[in-house]
Amino acid sequence: MSESERPRAAWSGTRRVPVPVNDPVRSYAPGSPEKLELKARLASMSRERLDVPLIIGGREVRTGNTAQAVMPHDHGHVLADYHKAGAADVEAAIAAAREAHREWSAWPWEDRAAVMLKAAELLTTSWRATLNAATMLGQSKTAFQAEIDSACELIDFWRFNPHYAQQLMAEQPISDHTMWNQAEYRALEGFVYAVTPFNFTAIGGNLPTAPALMGNTVVWKPASSAIPSAYQLMKIYEAAGMPPGVINFVPGDPGPVSGVALSHADLAGVHFTGSTEVFNSMWKTIGENMARYRSYPRVVGETGGKDFILAHASADVAALAVAIVRGGFEYQGQKCSAPSRVYLPRSLAKDVLERVTAMMGEIKVGDVSDFRNFMGAVIDKRAFDRITGYIADAKANARVLAGGGSHGERGYFIEPTLVEAPRPDYRLMCEEIFGPVVTLWIYDDARWHETLDLVDATSPYALTGAVFAQDRRALREAISGLRHAAGNFYVNDKPTGAVVGQQPFGGARGSGTNDKAGSVLNLLRWVSARSMKENFAPPREYGYPFMTEA
Ligand code: NAD
Repeated sequence: MSESERPRAAWSGTRRVPVPVNDPVRSYAPGSPEKLELKARLASMSRERLDVPLIIGGREVRTGNTAQAVMPHDHGHVLADYHKAGAADVEAAIAAAREAHREWSAWPWEDRAAVMLKAAELLTTSWRATLNAATMLGQSKTAFQAEIDSACELIDFWRFNPHYAQQLMAEQPISDHTMWNQAEYRALEGFVYAVTPFNFTAIGGNLPTAPALMGNTVVWKPASSAIPSAYQLMKIYEAAGMPPGVINFVPGDPGPVSGVALSHADLAGVHFTGSTEVFNSMWKTIGENMARYRSYPRVVGETGGKDFILAHASADVAALAVAIVRGGFEYQGQKCSAPSRVYLPRSLAKDVLERVTAMMGEIKVGDVSDFRNFMGAVIDKRAFDRITGYIADAKANARVLAGGGSHGERGYFIEPTLVEAPRPDYRLMCEEIFGPVVTLWIYDDARWHETLDLVDATSPYALTGAVFAQDRRALREAISGLRHAAGNFYVNDKPTGAVVGQQPFGGARGSGTNDKAGSVLNLLRWVSARSMKENFAPPREYGYPFMTEA
């Protein structure tokens, strides 16, 4: 009997994954061990220049067609040369995913969960400083912004998703003494194509691993502007014992990579986060290729936002002002959840604006390795040009209340900027800017109800939003009037900073399919249920009682 034919006993006993708890956010206060470790890792990784290959079926592939990954806050500093995938490499990645699928999809789900739990533990301990430093240097996040993303949120995804998978597996149909009905949660037939954005390392980690947990194998195209952290993720999977071919890493130009992946007969699903425009184009390509596919691909996409803060005249002004500053400007406003349109009642406007502009005056923008900086650089030249273009429009057509400056010579730095809109439908109130620009509209207190309608109708997106009020009737009106305006809605809090297990994240309308990352709703998309009926007492005669005439 060969080794591969040797019968393997299945585990006897119902296994339970550890009860997940949100990973505590470390402070990085002066003298703390985490700060010393992170500073050391920032220094050592700044001195390295990585050569990042594709990883296909566990093998490193160097195509020789390379591009550079640089620090956004020091764009002459190259962190990595990465190899770009061509069509043949994507074909090979799909073949490797199909090959790995046979074994991986047949594993008991608990063994797949163990890989995620091990990855979480590695990231909590020995990999934490490395992934945070890669995120800080490559994506220009401050220590705190990296910590809540590449450490805490990703650790939470990897610990909570097994817990949700366990809940899903326990969902079984009813039976009786004559029959046993069972639900089997099969992996999708084919491969899942995961396409991830630059702005959250945790999303780069979650989009391939959530389908993988459910037994799928994945072709992963990371964002070209987040290569160093994406590459470290592949190393973590390897260290956690993930078999080769389960996640295949194919950085490259999106057009050619997606061209092959989206037209392949074995495409079983797309797990995307990024802009609405790109998602729409992918959906169109999928529609055009419909006749080729073996199954209907599951298409999951979380996309853009034009997130709001609406203040009522009864709002707590100090809390409101902090929410505008933290929500609007942390990570340079490059969060899909960042509030970028604010509605202020005239009675509070002066007080709120004084507080907000005072805080903005204190904010330091610069190199994220200097922990005194509250903001780093925006991701790349394209983003810099787009955002400064919006600011130029504001200078010409609106009123810039604070900020407005930018300098891109060394790093792509843009000052936090506050704009007062001349009209509520001014383009900076409607379009996603994805930068540190907050635009506000001052409304007459008496027009509260009209303003609710305005907030609801102003943008095509519906991702996040917040209302600030002490008056309970006003809160009730906002909660019900803005029911479809945001998939994540906050009362007296900023609309950023969703926590796995607490505020499952996603929006509707132009903001995506709202499949709530880090929840059972998302995992449901990556399984195809099989219903099985086993009859303990099958009928032995074909006739029915009604056929007898009395
Ligand atoms: P992006 O759309 O430019 O890129 C996202 C990914 O798509 C990248 O991997 C990119 O290479 C790839 N891509 C680009 N063009 C493509 C094409 N034609 N075909 C296939 N793939 C293509 O987005 P980004 O700049 O990386 O991220 C910012 C956007 O992501 C914002 O719109 C933001 O709101 C959104 N976002 C949404 C969420 C959410 O949960 N809703 C979370 C984070 C970011």
